[in-house]
Amino acid sequence: MAKPKFAIYWAASCGGCEIAFLDIKEKILDFDAAAELVFCPCLMDTKYSDVEAMADEEIDVTLFNGGIRNEENLHLAHLLRRKSKVLVAFGSCATEGCIPGLANLTTKEDILDYVYRRSPSVAPGNTVLPQLETETPFGKLTLPAIHENLRTLGQVVDVDYFMPGCPPVEEQIWAVAEAALSGKLPPKGSLVGVNPKTVCDECPRTKDVKKVKAFRRPHLVSPRDIDPEICLLEQGLLCNGPAIHAGCGALCPRVNLGCRGCYGPAAGIQDVGAKLAGAIASVIDSDDPAEIDGIVDQILDPVGTFYRFNLAGSFVGRRVR
Ligand code: SF4
Ligand code: SF4
Ligand code: SF4
Repeated sequence: MAKPKFAIYWAASCGGCEIAFLDIKEKILDFDAAAELVFCPCLMDTKYSDVEAMADEEIDVTLFNGGIRNEENLHLAHLLRRKSKVLVAFGSCATEGCIPGLANLTTKEDILDYVYRRSPSVAPGNTVLPQLETETPFGKLTLPAIHENLRTLGQVVDVDYFMPGCPPVEEQIWAVAEAALSGKLPPKGSLVGVNPKTVCDECPRTKDVKKVKAFRRPHLVSPRDIDPEICLLEQGLLCNGPAIHAGCGALCPRVNLGCRGCYGPAAGIQDVGAKLAGAIASVIDSDDPAEIDGIVDQILDPVGTFYRFNLAGSFVGRRVR
């Protein structure tokens, strides 16, 4: 019997999700025995024309990581949707926008201006921006047009499953791959590679014992000054665990780092920032509005803190001027 065909594609991403896929270690041999990888630009020199030549739905499962930032990303999203029976938004970038989605706080013009004219690594005085078409002695070179904002995969095509994480942890990747190989995936539209409830439910730290008068920035705190048993939020270290979907095993709080939120909003939470505002208010040790304002003002970058991974996929999705 023919092996099921898999594809793994990266759009606007860092490539870490591909590395995470390879992190399944010796299970990669089981995967290779059970499936045929037909398209994966990170590992294979397959051309887009090879994918275009495939029959519709010829690929059984595509793991698509990365957001949609330019015309090439958009073309591949539509192409792989058409060629795949099952399309999985793989990782935080595809599911909710992730770090590349924070660029939605500025404009396309400002991004290009900074990267090519104002960045410290650019020769002073440079005025040249990338051109969509450039004639050379060897023919015309083209670049895909950048879009005004980054969109999630689900904002441009129909997605069958959403697998959060930046990147998803290896046990969850293998569990989803096994479910896909055995045809035991849950109903269409489900989140996959997650556990029930929130990061707090997987976190071994004790909650509800302390209140704080100040928030501390993690890089300014010595690990010796962090109690290993007590909730980080209750020690004044911001942690998004109360609003974030379980699935990683609370990796970050176990090593003294607050959850940044890469597994996305937990079930029933429509707005991470609103949920976290409540969680943070519950640990502030004051009834005085002015003092509370002062404590909250210690959170220097609220958008980057609470919407670091899901700005593009959130209700607003971008800066509104
Ligand atoms: S989800 Fe994280 S690891 Fe995966 S591509 Fe995006 S930034 Fe990289
Ligand atoms: S807020 Fe963070 S540190 Fe506290 S219990 Fe939840 S996940 Fe653990
Ligand atoms: S603890 Fe939070 S930021 Fe860390 S891996 Fe888990 S979901 Fe992601």
